[in-house]
Amino acid sequence: MSSETLTPSVAELAPEFVALSDAIWDEPELRWEEHASVAKQIAVAERHGGRITTNVAGIPTAFTAEWGQGGPVIAVLGEFDALAGLSQENGSTVRQPAPGNTSGNGHGCGHNLLGAGSLLAAVALAKTLEREGRAGTVRYYGCPAEEGAAGKSFMVAGGAFEDVDAAVSWHPGAGVATAQWKSLAYTQAYFRFRGVAAHAGANPQHGRSALDAAELMNVGVNFLREHMDDTDRVHYAFVDAGGASPNVVQPTAELYYLVRSATTAGMRALYERVCKIARGAAMMTETEVEIEFDGASAEILPNLVLESHLHAVVEAMGGVPYDDDDLAYGRELLTTVPADAVTHTKTTMGMSADDDSPYFLGVPPKPDPVHRPQMTGSTDVGDVSWVVPTVQIAGATAVLGTPGHSWQMVAQGKTAAAHKGMVYCATAIGAVAYDLLTDPDLLEAAQAEHRATLAVTPYDCPIPEGVIAPPVRPGYRVR
Ligand SMILES: [Zn+2]
Repeated sequence: MSSETLTPSVAELAPEFVALSDAIWDEPELRWEEHASVAKQIAVAERHGGRITTNVAGIPTAFTAEWGQGGPVIAVLGEFDALAGLSQENGSTVRQPAPGNTSGNGHGCGHNLLGAGSLLAAVALAKTLEREGRAGTVRYYGCPAEEGAAGKSFMVAGGAFEDVDAAVSWHPGAGVATAQWKSLAYTQAYFRFRGVAAHAGANPQHGRSALDAAELMNVGVNFLREHMDDTDRVHYAFVDAGGASPNVVQPTAELYYLVRSATTAGMRALYERVCKIARGAAMMTETEVEIEFDGASAEILPNLVLESHLHAVVEAMGGVPYDDDDLAYGRELLTTVPADAVTHTKTTMGMSADDDSPYFLGVPPKPDPVHRPQMTGSTDVGDVSWVVPTVQIAGATAVLGTPGHSWQMVAQGKTAAAHKGMVYCATAIGAVAYDLLTDPDLLEAAQAEHRATLAVTPYDCPIPEGVIAPPVRPGYRVR
């Protein structure tokens, strides 16, 4: 079995990659600004003989590390960006900021583990291929800005995956899933209203309020909710509410919208309705609106061949080997997790309701393509999955029900249990990648399925032609 081929290399290398994950957790960086995290990853990849390419697709914090020669080319996707306002002490069971964390950021999605785990898989795979004298290329993709910024989607649009044959990845979290979840396609954009300032008491008739326009846009969108699909999602934030004085008719206001739907086509239609409401609000208030595209990702396209192969690999591996200390901490932390979230993970994992284990200890249920779970969030892995057959394993690092982007997720990011989950997932995706490199029939079956799907529904890149990633746009500022 392929996982047995890879396990010795993974086990030998693991301590160094656990340390890499911890070092990235210690210095959490936000989207497009992951310079220290990238430097740490590149240092480890270079130490293991990786050939580095920086500035991939023109993005300063996107890079690849490559081993081997010739085809096939298998991509291993990694991430390393954190979230604002989520500083949290490691290994704690109460909400409290990490001592010495000056940025206030935290790894609330476990991307410290994601990047280090994927790099571990790539290096272990490269060493195994070298030892066995096999041809083929392993390429680790250091992908920036997954959180609300579509780093991979811009990399896909920039042609970074053009010579790739298949891709593997994983995502930390609760439970263990070999089933490929569906994600929502999304677009996010800024809506900037411009009006005319005036004395709000003395001559309001001369003012045209941009703030009124922004409020009316939100009201319009909130009425739109009655006429959307169940899995559609629209969220907004005020970036600028005008000035601080109520005695001035506000001449500027800016909203940041995130529009999601189950398919890229559905998302495009919904986004157009939101834009129509914005223009209507501007018309009503005699203001002007400028719409600035920020980022977009397609929904995940599952590959059934790779999904069932991943499941077979994980079945042969058995469960994550947590120990008694992991379970003791897990039990304590579990009391802080919302009960309905714990129940949800148990149901998904096929656990009985009275099972009091804080982690999922078994082999996940066999994926059921007919009842594929719909995740109502989004991921930029979606665009990669439309250009090459892609598979991901999820979970293994957190107690049941741990919500994404929560302090509990940050608190678990450096625990021994999370490290075990990272090594487990690295072994699984490394093994799938090994099989893709050494079994031409498996790769061809995955690619044939991919071609057949695209013949019916071609990839519709949600990034408009010619739009470059935000950090390389003139005048870009982090908001
Ligand atoms: Zn994530």
